[in-house]
Formats: sequence, structure tokens, C-alpha cells
Amino acid sequence: MAEFDILVTGGTLPDGRVADIGTRGDRIAAVGDLAGSTAGRLIDATGDLVSPPFVDPHFHLDATLSYGTPRINASGTLLEGIALWGELKAQATVDEMVDRALAYCDWAVSMGLLAIRSHVDTCDDSLKGVQALLEVRERVKPYLDLQLVAFPQDGFFRDPTARDNTLRALDMGVDVVGGIPHFERTMEAGRDSVRALCEIAAERGLLVDMHCDETDDPLSRHVETLAHETRRLGLQGRVAGSHLTSMHSMDNYYVSKLLPLMAEAELAAIPNPLINIVLQGRHDTYPKRRGLTRVKEMQAHGIRVGWGQDCVRDPWYSLGTADMLDVAFMGLHVAQMTAPDEMRRCFDMVTVENAKILHLDDYGLHEGAMASLVVLDAGDPVEAIRLRPDRLAVIARGRVVAETARNDSRLTLEGRPARVRRRHRAGAPEGTGRG
Ligand SMILES: [Zn+2]
Repeated sequence: MAEFDILVTGGTLPDGRVADIGTRGDRIAAVGDLAGSTAGRLIDATGDLVSPPFVDPHFHLDATLSYGTPRINASGTLLEGIALWGELKAQATVDEMVDRALAYCDWAVSMGLLAIRSHVDTCDDSLKGVQALLEVRERVKPYLDLQLVAFPQDGFFRDPTARDNTLRALDMGVDVVGGIPHFERTMEAGRDSVRALCEIAAERGLLVDMHCDETDDPLSRHVETLAHETRRLGLQGRVAGSHLTSMHSMDNYYVSKLLPLMAEAELAAIPNPLINIVLQGRHDTYPKRRGLTRVKEMQAHGIRVGWGQDCVRDPWYSLGTADMLDVAFMGLHVAQMTAPDEMRRCFDMVTVENAKILHLDDYGLHEGAMASLVVLDAGDPVEAIRLRPDRLAVIARGRVVAETARNDSRLTLEGRPARVRRRHRAGAPEGTGRG
């Protein structure tokens, strides 16, 4: 009998170490020099990056792959997207939502994205989205961690039945408490919604992840209340604020007070650079604001920040491929995280940082961790962001679940190489492929 079920040899880990990884059952059994070991399946990853799976901390599976139904978002704003989604969800069926969500999960698996936190709209008396995504969570369980957030899209207080329906969704088994304070009717109602939702989470022992201050209004300050309620209720380390785009436009003095309060509450921040570079600044002429919160400043205060994707082919965002490296690529640009350690950190912000935000306990490439990993056609994390390359192999819970053949371009140029891979190391001749 072979020593390992799967042996991935010669890969470069995100920290630069070169190591073999052996799996047994659904666990990583050994990491290191495993030369001479036997295995049921051998994967040669020499020269390739081997990473723990990608993690998306912010998505909407109930809306995904619905682009153009019943029509397209003409203004490109958050508010028209919400109105459009209201029309769509009235028509959608549970089966159709399940089909779309499962199709997206197939995309995710092919990209090595094996853990997703998805919000699910709870402003619907029939709770069709909740029924659909609970079913999807069960069906993908063998290969994908799906965490669901009860999300009162139309406002916890603004929508008359949102409170009851959100509580029902949590009773049905939705994992996390969500909210949208900036969409309530008044600042006071927004603040009250943050308090009420955090109290529900504290009573039930649940995590919190709120859409918070997704606006260009510098006076949208619900993150302050979120930090306060987190501390008051002893929820430190269990609460995330998603988007936080108003912080981009806030007064600098106010932010200098806010950041330490967020750090004290151990809030996590989830900016979503693909969607917010599209949605924000739509009311500006020029200069036009960037749609991103203050990422580097938060990190300098020790606040955990993870990049989220939010949307793929839905009423808010017309593109997207389930590739968290697209998200990291856009985030790196908009946040100007161009120093070598900052680029490297952008890779962590779609892998290990997000795993911590989701409280994924057995995540990583160490012995005893879940046997889930990705082999990428890149030499290191920064090259992965630059190339957004093929996922050569994806292993989920000890099973190979996706494979892509290495697909170099062939050149027919006299005096030039026959193949090109666009890999590049500092000091190597430009354009030469390695490996
Ligand atoms: Zn969202």
C-alpha cells in the first residue's frame, strides 16, 4: 500500500520554501523532503507555486450568473442594482437559484477557490434564496466550504418583515449575521440596526459580517457603531465590516480616531475592489473618487483586511470569473500596494487572511491541515498575481477535483524561442520561460 494517497512534489510554497506535500484521507500527512515515498497519485509541481486554496470572504451566490435578467443596470450604481435585484428575486425560483449557484461553484473549483462566504437575501417572505443556498451548501460540502450570511438587503428596519425573516433564516441554519445600515432610512435607523443585529449575533453565538458604509458619503459612519457594539458585546475578532468605502472620503482627523477604535474591537475589513471601483464615484464629475477603503492605513494599525469579490455576472457587476487573483490584481492597483512586501501581502489577502476572517480552523499547508491546495503555473505569489495563471491541479479534501493542462503559447518567429510562458524573474533575460 502506498504511503500517501497524493504526493505533490517539488512545489514552491507561498513563503518560498520548496517542499513535497503528501496527503492521506482528507488531511495533509507530511510536508518536507518526501523523496522516495510512494503514492497513489503523483503530481509534479517542480518550479510551480503550491498554495492553500483561495478564499472569498464576500459574495452573493443567490444573484450570481443572472446578468441581464430582467434587464441591465443602466446607471451602474448600487441603488439601481438593488432595485433590479428586487425585480429579479420576485421572479426567481429556488431551482433556478440552485442551478446558478452550483454553476458558479464549478467555476470556483476550477480556479482553486474552495471557501466562499456568501450573503443571502433575507428580505423575501418565502425565503427562496435561503432555501436555495442551504441546499447548495449541502451539495458542495464534500469539496467547498460555503458559509452563509443572513443579509437583509432591503434594510433590517426599512423592510417591514426583514427582522422576522432574518431571524427565520438564522433558525433555518444560516451561519452569520449580516446587515446594511447605510441603506436604512436614517442615520439613526442605521445605527439602531447595527446594534440590534450585533445583539442577535451575541445571543446566538454567531459571527457578524455587515455591508457597512458602501457609499461615497463621508458622513456615513456606521463602522464607528459597529466597532462600539463589537466591544460592548464582547464580539472582538468575530465581526467584519464589508466595503467601508465611505472611509475613502472621510475627514482625515476623524479617521485618525476611527482606526484605533476598529483595531481595539478587532474588526476585520473586507474591501471588494472589482465592484467598488465600478460603483463608487458615479456621482462625481472630476476628480473622481476611487471606490476603496483605506487598506494600507488599516493594516498599519493591525486591522485584518481581506480582499472580497462580491459579484460575478449579476445586477451590480457584469464581468468576473471566480478568480480571486483578479480581485487581488485590482486591489493591488487601486490601493497602490506596489512594494514587494505589499504585493506579496495581496496574495495573503485572498488566501490566509480570508481564511482567518472565515474562522477556517484546518486551513493551510501544514501537517494535519485539510488536504486542500492549488498548483499554479507561476513561480511565486507575486508572479501569480501578475499572470493570473492556469490552476494546473486543485485538490479538495484529499481529492483531485480540477486539472488544467499546461498551455504555453507557441511562437513561429525566426530566431526566437518556440514557446513562451511569460514567466519572469528579476535578472533573467526578458521573456524567457523557466521550467
Ligand atoms: Zn455584497
